[in-house]
Amino acid sequence: MVIGAGVLGASAAARLADTGMHVTLLDQDQPGHATSRWSFAWVNSNDKGPRPYHDLNQAGVRAWAELAPDLDGPAWYRPAGNIELATDDHARGELAVRVRRLTEWGYSAGLIGAAEAYQIEPSLRPVGSAATAAWFPGEGYLLTEPLIARLISYATSRGAVLLTGEPGRVVGFGTSPIRVRTAAGTAVEADDVLCCAGRWVPALAELTPAGAAQVPLEGWAEPGATAPGFVVRVGPVDTEGPQRVVHTPEICLRPHSGGLVHLEAPDAAVDLHTPEPDLRRWARELLGRARRAVRGLDHATVIDYQVCVRPMPVDEQSIVGRLPGAEWLYVAVTHSGVTLAAHLSRLIAADLATGTPAAELAPYRPSRFLRFPGR
Ligand SMILES: Cc1cc2nc3c(=O)[nH]c(=O)nc-3n(C[C@H](O)[C@H](O)[C@H](O)COP(=O)(O)OP(=O)(O)OC[C@H]3O[C@@H](n4cnc5c(N)ncnc54)[C@H](O)[C@@H]3O)c2cc1C
Repeated sequence: MVIGAGVLGASAAARLADTGMHVTLLDQDQPGHATSRWSFAWVNSNDKGPRPYHDLNQAGVRAWAELAPDLDGPAWYRPAGNIELATDDHARGELAVRVRRLTEWGYSAGLIGAAEAYQIEPSLRPVGSAATAAWFPGEGYLLTEPLIARLISYATSRGAVLLTGEPGRVVGFGTSPIRVRTAAGTAVEADDVLCCAGRWVPALAELTPAGAAQVPLEGWAEPGATAPGFVVRVGPVDTEGPQRVVHTPEICLRPHSGGLVHLEAPDAAVDLHTPEPDLRRWARELLGRARRAVRGLDHATVIDYQVCVRPMPVDEQSIVGRLPGAEWLYVAVTHSGVTLAAHLSRLIAADLATGTPAAELAPYRPSRFLRFPGR
């Protein structure tokens, strides 16, 4: 049984179905319509420490490259590379240090001159001779909606059953035998329950005797919470629009499906309570910044915007494993879930199938939070 059909749950359902297990995939909504739908979906291990977490993310980048040829990659896999520009002294210094560290760790990264940056991404507007650029050729982005659709049809072609809406909304659990109760009043029996419900994992853990203490996420519901992020999609894009992931001091952007460009800016201070007029103002602000950064957006308008929520563990590291006190519930919740899903789902499926967790998962067990008194 898998709860949650975002990028992580859909990936896990596909891997588990591959092992021959009987899989029921439950989602309260349409698959992939929560955080995964709005994610920047930049596949990278660009600034992910400490080293084991960097390696986990790098394995994630490789895992998508391995999966793409077997899962209609052209529909969703975009290994387009990433260009980052730094314009002030502090940012230039930080970028140089990061590139050196990543290179030492065997990651494809290099500082490049402005001329080379414009050659790699011709849509970039000139930013002045003081700018430093870095090129990360092994990175890219995913189109999560077609990806999740393919993962689910792969899983169902191998016998998985998908339930959505009320029959897919989990409202409780029973034990002996393990049962998952849904809003439709059904109780579905399961050997194991894999919970990939993103930011709602703590709410589901709360329904077990273990409680939510071992899946502590950054708060997201309250005013001023920092887990929510603001996403804007603009278009149409002229033919000379951006082709790669681009990070400038003002804006992060990448191409999106339907001839759109996806925009984000870390300083867009919004949360789930931000009034509409402020969201519209931020959306226009991000479009203005994007026009200053790249060509191709002169005729673009704001097509869509959304406040979406990072499922961010309090120590920023993935939480993956059985919940002490409710061992039948295996939780998987993480930021960078788009980067990580192909690899993590492989590790999770092997763990569930064999009962022997990969050493790679050791730092991410929920039991690490038992060490903190008062949690
Ligand atoms: C603004 C932003 C930018 C990001 N950028 C990146 C990036 O560049 N690269 C990257 O790798 N990651 C990025 N992330 C993080 C990444 O998007 C997430 O880690 C990932 O999408 C989480 O996927 P998920 O499947 O765990 O959760 P979700 O996609 O949220 O899926 C969880 C599913 O569980 C279902 N569910 C919840 N409760 C129940 C219930 N009771 N019963 C049944 N179903 C339930 C929901 O309906 C949902 O479909 C970003 C996130 C945000 C918000």
